[in-house]
Amino acid sequence: MHQKPDGDAMGSTLGLYHFLKQLGHDVTVISPTNWANFLNWMPGVDHVLDFEHNRQHSMELIGAADYIFCLDFNILHRTKHLEQPLAQATATRILIDHHQQPQVEMFRYGVSDTSKSSTCEMVYDLIIGSGHAHLINIPVAECLYTGLMTDTGSFRFPATSAAVHRMAAHLKETGMNHTKVHENIYDSFLENRLRFIGHALLNRMEVLYEYNTALMYIPKSDLQRFDIKTGDTEGLVNYLLTIQGMKLGAIVIDRDEERKWSFRSKGGFDVNTFARQHFEGGGHMNAAGGRSSDSLEQTVKTFKQILEQYQNQLQ
Ligand code: 5GP
Ligand code: MN
Repeated sequence: MHQKPDGDAMGSTLGLYHFLKQLGHDVTVISPTNWANFLNWMPGVDHVLDFEHNRQHSMELIGAADYIFCLDFNILHRTKHLEQPLAQATATRILIDHHQQPQVEMFRYGVSDTSKSSTCEMVYDLIIGSGHAHLINIPVAECLYTGLMTDTGSFRFPATSAAVHRMAAHLKETGMNHTKVHENIYDSFLENRLRFIGHALLNRMEVLYEYNTALMYIPKSDLQRFDIKTGDTEGLVNYLLTIQGMKLGAIVIDRDEERKWSFRSKGGFDVNTFARQHFEGGGHMNAAGGRSSDSLEQTVKTFKQILEQYQNQLQ
């Protein structure tokens, strides 16, 4: 999975893990970094290795593996310090992913389909297509439902096809409790996160009506003041597009190692291309991320300058 995994990255890898285990395989899930607390309820998460804390053991497993499934990312550098070990591994690398422009030369086999709602949907298709529908038990269903729900914005984004709803129905039929999954993901934060969101919406948001764009910037001092942890800022960018008429929402967070951008759009504005061209990033047409080595102030200034080129597209 990619660094700082989200619900789809953790859900798809753990869903595949529970499936392959039932077929008698020896499977380990490795995350390049730590992850948000709201993923810690997931079945099997206690066995997931955080590469940054289990380097030696992870390297041994990668060295000895026959197959490495790369899920929910398509460019090795999305795995941060795992990039080199993955590139050097002798195992067969298999890609299952729904982002744009895969680094195809790095994978022996793979499915890359940008029309898919989530990597969890693709793992589901794999299980069904392999004739093992009966192995979708409650742990598999909970994991796959997690990514299906989070990557579709709870079944609202355009990639929410009829097949997505059919998959949700099937997962439900296993006896999975979808309310539990929803509450574990979305209702498990601490007070500080809500106070932080209030502060950010009030003091750190700019609405650039001439570009139909809402922008938010979070300085390091805010992260410290509100004791913000991995995952606490996830979803914040979505508030920006709730303002009537907004076509682009952008948030930049002053992380230790870089300024991390998240972009969201509605309609035809392609944030994957935007992030690739200007912020060393990528993702999907309507949801992408990127980075900058500049100061927070500078990268915000640069963003505003770049917007001028897109004024027509954002009308
Ligand atoms: P988020 O804004 O939620 O971090 O990411 C939105 C989407 O863009 C996700 O699908 C994520 O995997 C992808 N993404 C985020 N950051 C980057 C990046 O730096 N590079 C690339 N290629 N994709 C990214
Ligand atoms: Mn995904």
